[in-house]
Amino acid sequence: MKEMIIKKDALMNLLTGRADDCQVFAPVEVEGSLVIKEIQPGDEITISSMNTKASIKETFFPQRERLFSYDLSKPGEMKEPPFSDRKRIVFGIRPCDAKSLTVFDCVFKGKDYPDPYYIDKRDNTIVIAVGCNEPSTTCFCSDTGAGPFSTDGADLLLVDLDGSYLVRVVTEKGESFVNENTAFTEAGQQQAETRDAIVDKATKAVHAQVNPDKVKKKLDDGFDSNVWDIIHEKCIGCGTCTYLCPTCHCFDIVDETTGTTGERLRIWDSCMYPFFTLHASGGNPRKTGKERMRQRVMHKFKYFVDNNEMVACTGCGRCVKYCPVNLDIREILKQIEVS
Ligand code: SF4
Ligand code: SF4
Repeated sequence: MKEMIIKKDALMNLLTGRADDCQVFAPVEVEGSLVIKEIQPGDEITISSMNTKASIKETFFPQRERLFSYDLSKPGEMKEPPFSDRKRIVFGIRPCDAKSLTVFDCVFKGKDYPDPYYIDKRDNTIVIAVGCNEPSTTCFCSDTGAGPFSTDGADLLLVDLDGSYLVRVVTEKGESFVNENTAFTEAGQQQAETRDAIVDKATKAVHAQVNPDKVKKKLDDGFDSNVWDIIHEKCIGCGTCTYLCPTCHCFDIVDETTGTTGERLRIWDSCMYPFFTLHASGGNPRKTGKERMRQRVMHKFKYFVDNNEMVACTGCGRCVKYCPVNLDIREILKQIEVS
């Protein structure tokens, strides 16, 4: 894999300088939380050892997205939002979030139901991820097929060498970006050795905690297992885990109307909410917390694997960190493994 070097200052100047001709999204501290947002003049891009609170998904799959608008007094007329050729750069996300884009690609770029709203954003974006020199204790990315320096889903993967970044060129899109900018220079042997030491240390810091293959085997015959009676008990159904999760993608479609005009919107939803599966008849196939928790786990670790040969979890640890009742998905998976 081709590797380049760029000074951190030079990269920040390059990114902020590009904000005129393309949208640049990066981590910024807002009221004490690190969030990914479109950079505006005066924003300071912040790369810290902490991951962002919310994931990258809002940037590709907005929480509220207009699909089209209409006016009932003009039957047959429907206005889609303009698809833009404006280029976008996503910088500073962690490999777990870059990996989540490969999950989203299965859902929104699949051949059966390609989603033009997602594809427009995905194809016009270059993804520049930064590896994790200091993984958090809640991370289990190595167990889910990624890792602190995984290149999955990224066009460029950066390794933090203190005053500069070593840049791994992953895709042709990444290669074009590097070739267009003279601030990148070829990496040397010494920098490659420093990179090896950093990657080795970080990889060892993410301890193996769950085994998705063993979990999958249990889940294959585990729909009626007693384990579901126990593991949902603490859950209060707040939906935090699903909203912060980079791979959760449940949505609802609603119409908002004023007089004869209206908009059709796609908004995030959550399988942890009782109304998610409530039928117009009043029936509900997932009435209880037990059924909803089973669905969340089954979807990520069985159904998605059956359909796409990968788990729909990147081990980012957000659901572990922010669940208000400390429900830990790693513990849930371990319980399933030994059930
Ligand atoms: S964040 Fe915790 S309490 Fe809230 S729905 Fe998820 S598992 Fe349940
Ligand atoms: S299930 Fe939890 S650990 Fe896995 S990707 Fe979602 S938020 Fe991250």
